[in-house]
Amino acid sequence: MLLELNQVETFYGSSQALFGIDLQVSKGEVVALMGRNGMGKTTSIRSVFGLTPLRRGKISFMGRDISAMPPYRIARLGLGLVPEGRRCFPNLTVVENLLTSARKGEWTLEAVNELFPRLKERSQQQANTLSGGEQQMLAVGRALMTNPELIVLDEATEGLAPVIRQEIWKAVRELKRRGQSILVVDKTLSELLPVADRCVILERGRTVWQGKPDTLTAELQDQYLGV
Ligand code: ATP
Repeated sequence: MLLELNQVETFYGSSQALFGIDLQVSKGEVVALMGRNGMGKTTSIRSVFGLTPLRRGKISFMGRDISAMPPYRIARLGLGLVPEGRRCFPNLTVVENLLTSARKGEWTLEAVNELFPRLKERSQQQANTLSGGEQQMLAVGRALMTNPELIVLDEATEGLAPVIRQEIWKAVRELKRRGQSILVVDKTLSELLPVADRCVILERGRTVWQGKPDTLTAELQDQYLGV
């Protein structure tokens, strides 16, 4: 087991956002974290990374209790985040963005450039001159450069042109093929379900369903994901 959330409860000030999240990701597994808007997906991810600390419950990563660890220590243990809204360093070049986070492992500059050839073409450009899609690729590349045990993608294809979305999904499938463990939030079920080994559905801050994608019936989709 890589990541395990056990009955996690998280608050924003006095307002409770998570009421009991259970979630597991095993090594080599791709887990889709699902649910309608505002059900707690991003807050669950923020809790994992120590960005919105949990108040009750427990989070373990590779057998260590990370519930009360500061974010920089959690990241160092081998968790890579591609946050909603990307957040690259705007005044650094593409290559500088990639190298600032680099740690030894299979994901080198060459490997990331091979995954996203556009980043190679743009390597000397400042990140703030990239298109939204290219910035998203850079955010994925930067997380990979840390050579994470687990990479977490929060809405990585949101708001992007269809052709760029395709490039991101192609990269996700390549990561899976290489055995990378992935926790992924995305609204495009037609792309998400084929790549997922398991789905976890949240509703109002609770885990309400878990199972393989082929057992996620139309009724369940209607009940938990429909608008
Ligand atoms: P989305 O797909 O819209 O990002 P989500 O499933 O990721 O939704 P969260 O963003 O985790 O959901 O939100 C869970 C709950 O926490 C919601 O009720 C939301 O209003 C609340 N919430 C989120 N961020 C904050 C914040 N900074 N302050 C107060 N409440 C917040």
